[in-house]
Amino acid sequence: MFGKGLVKGLQITWKEFWAPKLTVQYPEKQHTVPERFHGKFVLDVDKCIACGLCANACPNRVISLNKQKVGKKQYLTDYQMNIQYCLFCGLCVESCNKDALHFTKDFNMNQYFYKNIPLVLVRREAPAEPLEEPAMGGEDQPKPKLKPQAPKEEKVAKPAAPAAESEAAAGKEGQ
Ligand code: SF4
Ligand code: SF4
Repeated sequence: MFGKGLVKGLQITWKEFWAPKLTVQYPEKQHTVPERFHGKFVLDVDKCIACGLCANACPNRVISLNKQKVGKKQYLTDYQMNIQYCLFCGLCVESCNKDALHFTKDFNMNQYFYKNIPLVLVRREAPAEPLEEPAMGGEDQPKPKLKPQAPKEEKVAKPAAPAAESEAAAGKEGQ
């Protein structure tokens, strides 16, 4: 019972006891995560145009969104991610051409109840009237100057010689 195995096990324990510690006392202490860590999602609703490219890019159909037409634009009313099926592959973030969807470094997305797992990023009512958009720049800012363009040269087509003159010239050459 107390043979070679016990001695070998105690040797490993003794060696590891003095080795540098790689674990930390979570949650009081946490490891720093890399800069490009794929953690919890955030959505910039002001940038999102509810185009649905991110939902189409997702291989697991994690993203579902609803939109409503207000005036001439689409208004995002609901954006939900069934995060329990997410691969954290980043295809949705890459596909967003408005730079609205991002990863954060927050990896703590655990929930006690299953129904609370889906990540609701937007849930709101659409306004009755189109929202006023902020003016670009402002009145104080100088308007960009346009460079004066040189007038283009027009090509004038040479008039063709009348047919009678050209026939007379041909007759003289023949005599
Ligand atoms: S990270 Fe990948 S799996 Fe998760 S929502 Fe985005 S595209 Fe889908
Ligand atoms: S997050 Fe980006 S890709 Fe997804 S609906 Fe909004 S604008 Fe489109």
